[in-house]
Amino acid sequence: MTKRNKSIAIIGGGICGLSSAYYLTKAGFKVSVFEKNKSLGGLLSTFSPCKKIKLEKFYHHIFLSDKEAINLFKELEIESNLIPRQSKVGFLKDGKFYDFNKSIDFLSLPFLNLGSKIRFAFAGISLKFLPEILIRNLTAKKILIYAMGKKNYRVIWEPLLKGKFGRFKSDISAAWIVYRFKKRSGTRKNGREILLYPTASFQILIDALGKKIGKKNIFTGFPIKKIEEKDDGYIINNKKYDILISTVAETDFKEIFGKSNIKDIEYLGAICPVFFFKKPLTKYYWTNVLDGLPFSGIIEHTNLIKNVNYKSSIVYLSHYLQKSDPLFKMNDNDLESYYLSHLKKIFPKINKNLKGFKIYRVSNAQPIIKKGFKKPPITVNNKLYVTSMAHTYPFDRGINYAVREGKNIATKIIKAHS
Ligand SMILES: Cc1cc2nc3c(=O)[nH]c(=O)nc-3n(C[C@H](O)[C@H](O)[C@H](O)COP(=O)(O)OP(=O)(O)OC[C@H]3O[C@@H](n4cnc5c(N)ncnc54)[C@H](O)[C@@H]3O)c2cc1C
Repeated sequence: MTKRNKSIAIIGGGICGLSSAYYLTKAGFKVSVFEKNKSLGGLLSTFSPCKKIKLEKFYHHIFLSDKEAINLFKELEIESNLIPRQSKVGFLKDGKFYDFNKSIDFLSLPFLNLGSKIRFAFAGISLKFLPEILIRNLTAKKILIYAMGKKNYRVIWEPLLKGKFGRFKSDISAAWIVYRFKKRSGTRKNGREILLYPTASFQILIDALGKKIGKKNIFTGFPIKKIEEKDDGYIINNKKYDILISTVAETDFKEIFGKSNIKDIEYLGAICPVFFFKKPLTKYYWTNVLDGLPFSGIIEHTNLIKNVNYKSSIVYLSHYLQKSDPLFKMNDNDLESYYLSHLKKIFPKINKNLKGFKIYRVSNAQPIIKKGFKKPPITVNNKLYVTSMAHTYPFDRGINYAVREGKNIATKIIKAHS
C-alpha cells in the first residue's frame, strides 16, 4: 500500500473538516467526511429565507485580514464572488444609537470624557503589539483597565465582555482581546472598515469544497456515536480507517472516543434569532449593545448586503449563553416573544414592522478562553489528529482560522505520509 492510499476519516463537516478534506483530497488521499447534520457547513450552514436565496443561520462575514479564507476562495476559483462591503457600526447606550465608524464619531461620543477617549485610542494602537507570551497569564479585564482606564472598561468593555462571555467576563484571557485588536488592524480602507461577504452567501464556499471532495466521500446525516481503536486504525460503522481527524468540540470527541487524555474545554452555546422586517430597523450593520439587554449585538444583514433581493430587512441578534440556560429549553414561539419584548424597549412599534422570524441554536458556539489558556496539541499520535474552535488560540475562532487549522492538519498528514 502506498502511503497516500491510507484512508482518512474526518469527524465534522464544518468549514474546518471540509478544508482539511479538500487539501488532503488534492494531495491524493482518500477521505470520508462524517457530518451529523443533514447539510454541510456547521456554524456556517445556511437556510433559504426566500426562493433561490441562501442565508447563514448565524450572521457571518470575513475581514480583509482573513488571508487563509481569502486564499481558499482563490484556490477554488470563486473569489470573484467575495465582495468588499463597507460596514456601518454603532453603539446602543441608554436607548440611543451612536455612530462608531470614523475617528470623529468616537470623539463625539457623549458618554466618555476626552481623557478616556485619548487613552482608548492610544491603547487600541499599542496593545496589538503585545506578544501572547507576555499576556497569557493576565485577564482581559486587567489589561484593559491598565491600558484604557476604569471608565472605558466600565462603559465599553465590561458590557461587551459580559455580552459575549456572561459570568465568565472577568476570567477571559488578555490574549483573547489583544489578538482581536491584532486581527482588526489592516481591515480598514480610507479609515472605514471593509468586510467581505460572498454574493450567493457562504454556501458557495461549502458547495465548492463539497464538489472538490466528491459526493461519494461525504456522509451527511451521519452522527458518529462511537469510534473503536483497533490494531493499526479506527473502526467507524464496521469500516476501518488508517487515520482519524476530529474537528468537533473536545468534550464531544471524548464521548465518541470513550477514552482520551484530551483536556476538556468549556464552550458557550448561542441562540440566534433571525427577524424579517418590512422596513430597516437601524442604519447600522453591527450595533454593539451596551445597555444591559440579553443580547450583545444587533446585526442588520441587509445594511451590509444591498444587492440581494431578500424581500425583507434581515436582523440577527447575538446571544451567547451557558448550555444550562433555561432559554435553550424554550420553544421558538416563546423565544420570539422573549426577544421581541426586549427589542420593544428600543423600537416600541416593532410588531407592526415584523414579517417573520427563525430561531437557530447551537451548543458549541464559543470556547471560553480563560486566563492561562494554552493551545492544545493537534497531533495526538501519527494516526490521530484533533482540532477544534479552541485550537485557533490566541486568535478567536472564525472561518479564517477554521480553514487554517484544517489545512494545518492536512499539511501534517501529507508530510508524515509522503
Ligand atoms: C453566532 C456566530 C457568529 C459567527 N460569526 C462569524 C463571522 O462573522 N466571521 C467568522 O469568521 N466566524 C464567525 N463565527 C465563527 C465561525 O462560524 C466558526 O469559527 C467556524 O465556522 C468553525 O468551523 P468548524 O468547522 O471548526 O466548527 P463547526 O462549524 O462547529 O463544525 C463542526 C461540525 O461537526 C459536526 N459534528 C459534531 N459532532 C458530530 C458527530 N458526533 N458526528 C458527526 N459530526 C459531528 C457539527 O454538526 C458541525 O457541522 C461565528 C460563530 C457563531 C456561533
